[in-house]
Amino acid sequence: MPYRLALTLGLSLLAVAPVQAQTPLSVVATIGMIGDIAQTVGGDCVAVQTMMGPGIDPHLYQATARDVQTLNRAGLILYSGYGLEGQLGDVFARYSERVPTLAVAEAGIAQEDLIATDDAYGVDPHLWMDVSLWAQTVPAIADQLTALIPDCGPAIAANAEAYQSQLAALHGWATEAITSIPEGQRILVTAHDAFAYYGRAYGIDVAGIQGISTQSEAAIADIRQTADLIVERNVPAIFVESTINPRTIQAVIEAARQAGQEVEIGGELYSDAMGDAGTAGGTYIGMIHSNTTAISGALGGTPPTLPDELSDWAQQWSLN
Ligand code: ZN
Repeated sequence: MPYRLALTLGLSLLAVAPVQAQTPLSVVATIGMIGDIAQTVGGDCVAVQTMMGPGIDPHLYQATARDVQTLNRAGLILYSGYGLEGQLGDVFARYSERVPTLAVAEAGIAQEDLIATDDAYGVDPHLWMDVSLWAQTVPAIADQLTALIPDCGPAIAANAEAYQSQLAALHGWATEAITSIPEGQRILVTAHDAFAYYGRAYGIDVAGIQGISTQSEAAIADIRQTADLIVERNVPAIFVESTINPRTIQAVIEAARQAGQEVEIGGELYSDAMGDAGTAGGTYIGMIHSNTTAISGALGGTPPTLPDELSDWAQQWSLN
């Protein structure tokens, strides 16, 4: 069998000298928040492709024939895990037998930091919403890249360190921005429960109309319950999400209005996907920056100026 022969040859070569993958290493990432880290940390040593682009909902995603081709050619597959990619998780588990494959959240983020849920997976997978947690995937990704392309190790280490310091600064900035909202108004109402980690990290109550996954439609009871909460807490603004149909949010606004509370749409948040490539929102830092600016602004806070560590990033996107 030719395949087995090739495998045997490959193994015997491996025994003589460590095999270094060709650069740029072809990396396939599921979500943009992973692809961005791989590209930032890998630099010129990697060529990253992201399967799920702007506005794509990872909970419902099904691999296309084209994805399968891309995965078959990959030198490294990166996915989040903890149930984020739904049934695709099983597909990646099978790929892991022949392509280096890493579930970055499962590898990088400790069990004790997870928020439990009562769905089939038992874990809330929206870990990128807490920058200090998502930053823990950076060394996991860097280690995996270095193992495959060791000649790039020093560059990868330097890039990872620089990126970690940007993320630490971003985390501090987001904390300050949310703290600037008057205490009684620190409540974030969105379409689905993607923001529990955000709420825990930055100190804001969170209410999602629909559950953790988008696999079920919001029920009438959920809409009424959310409207009651808005009236009770005097919530001035609620938010739509880039990956979710805004119809549910409109229904809540209407129900709150009938109960005498005017509430507006505070903006569109990036929940499960980043914005368009070539825009600030198309980066992980920009996703958190844009969400935090929208949330603090609409709820009566004032985001502080960006810290020095992010001035290069801000300049790149003409934000200041
Ligand atoms: Zn989600």
